[in-house]
Amino acid sequence: MQTESQRRVFFDHAATTPLDGRVLEAMLPFLRENHGNPSSLHWAGREARAAVDNARAQVAQLLNAQPEEIIFTGSGTEADNIALVGAALPLSHIIISAFEHPAILETAGFLESQGVAVTRLPVTPEGLVAPAALEEALRPETRLVSIMAANNVVGTLQPVGELAAVARRKGVWFHTDAVQAVGKVPLDMVRQPIDLLSLSAHKLYGPKGVGALYVRKGVKLNPILHGGGQEKGLRPATENVAGIVGLGAAAAIAQKEMSDEAARLVCLRDDFIETITAAIPNAYLIGHRHRRLPGHVCFGFAGQENDAIQLMLALDGEGLAVSTGSACSGKHSSAPSHVLQAMGFDALRARGLLRISFGRFNTQAEIEHFAAVLPRLAAGLRPLTSSRLSGARG
Ligand code: PLP
Repeated sequence: MQTESQRRVFFDHAATTPLDGRVLEAMLPFLRENHGNPSSLHWAGREARAAVDNARAQVAQLLNAQPEEIIFTGSGTEADNIALVGAALPLSHIIISAFEHPAILETAGFLESQGVAVTRLPVTPEGLVAPAALEEALRPETRLVSIMAANNVVGTLQPVGELAAVARRKGVWFHTDAVQAVGKVPLDMVRQPIDLLSLSAHKLYGPKGVGALYVRKGVKLNPILHGGGQEKGLRPATENVAGIVGLGAAAAIAQKEMSDEAARLVCLRDDFIETITAAIPNAYLIGHRHRRLPGHVCFGFAGQENDAIQLMLALDGEGLAVSTGSACSGKHSSAPSHVLQAMGFDALRARGLLRISFGRFNTQAEIEHFAAVLPRLAAGLRPLTSSRLSGARG
């Protein structure tokens, strides 16, 4: 008989990813014997500095950037804040999309409170930002455009190269929150005129609490933190050496394995979508059918919108971890998703989504098991829904 822990399967890689064992191995010496501060001039400091420099080169390589263009940060959120606040203050105009992660939305809200004008671009029902809409929104005083590379809820991939080119033609800096995209799809700073890019280690099988900001040579940001001058003064604090080493190792693995891994996940994802839409008559895919992250699926269930959380909990009861939105909205997940509302869903439909994100260590057998369990659990909720819908909430 299977034990509870043997049955557990993680299908919530958009929330976070497990630490790859190879990343852990790379980090361990810097949690044990190599404890130096990279700013120290002695042997211990030099060892730590060499490790940080090596990680910087690994992250730069993944992005086809220069090592000196990589600034290590404490998270993806911090990278987003350094980029937006550092570029937009004092008074200016910035453009974001309406369905950004809170790390961008809330920062833009803060900037607005400081007198910065913010335009929130609409999103198509398929979850895409149109370059023409960006073109129209640009103003002579626009300082920065920030459009996410991949949406964390619906998984759609934006045409960031095209969007960045629109901004570049007008001499406006282009930032992308690529926290969900880095290590999953190719990003190339030589080919794409992106000026600033945020990433986070824990979304690419690295440790939590470490991220990076790519800052194109020549782009000057005002620091939002002040201290000892580390990371070109943009993230002045003693570096999280083990975390940074982990991010570097994760980036190197992603670079080597990304294309095979993406091809495998796309096949598993597409088979899964077909199986579920055939087995559950009211299931519909949210977001563009193909322009989406390789392992990312987002379903709505017509007429069962209020039951998404119940379905997620029922799956959890079977050991299957999925989500009803972003991990950050977990505390108030019965509220309509701002992402779906930006895509034109009404408040009821915007409440009912199931996000399933497959990852590196998921097997075909695990996904087939999931595809068999989900229709059974969704069907189990149906009678409850119809009685509820004919009641107070109808
Ligand atoms: N941006 C996006 C698109 C994300 O999905 C996340 C995390 O969920 C973040 C930013 C925040 O990254 P971190 O958790 O490293 O602060």
